[in-house]
Parts: sequence; structure tokens; C-alpha cells
Amino acid sequence: MDAKARGYACPRCTVGRCTAQTTTFVDVYHGQLLNMPNTRAFICDVCHFVEFEQEMLGALWEELYGEVARDDAQTVAGHKRSSTYGEG
Ligand SMILES: [Zn+2]
Repeated sequence: MDAKARGYACPRCTVGRCTAQTTTFVDVYHGQLLNMPNTRAFICDVCHFVEFEQEMLGALWEELYGEVARDDAQTVAGHKRSSTYGEG
């Protein structure tokens, strides 16, 4: 477990804590339904705000769509490359 696993203050409600959990990632991309169970995310224990790992999303986009999604992946994942990403 890395430090982030202990959670952080929820950016939405500022009351709860977002802690590392797994949930089902569901999204629609270019008209296709994405459904990925057991996806690591940080979930607020108060308002249930869900924030998925940006690294994970970037990797997912690359994996699924390759060059087609490269521009989108950059906007989703940003330019930061965290070296503290947990190994699970
Ligand atoms: Zn919250």
C-alpha cells in the first residue's frame, strides 16, 4: 500500500475522505460502452464521489484505442507521470 491508500480529503464535499477501493468503471467512448469491473478508484465515504486513477485511465485509453485516442488520453491523463503509483 502506498501513502495514497490512506485517503485524502474529498475535493467535492470536503468532509469525507476518498480512500482506495475498487469499483466498476463505466463510460461511453465514441459510442462504445466501456465496463471494467474491479477498477481501482478513490471513493469518498460521505458523498461517494469517485475519482479514478488518472494513470489507469491514460493506460486504458492507450490500450483500447491507441493512436486514435492519444489526444483524448492526454487531456484525461494530463502530463504528470506519478512515480508514487501503488503496486496494489
Ligand atoms: Zn465527498
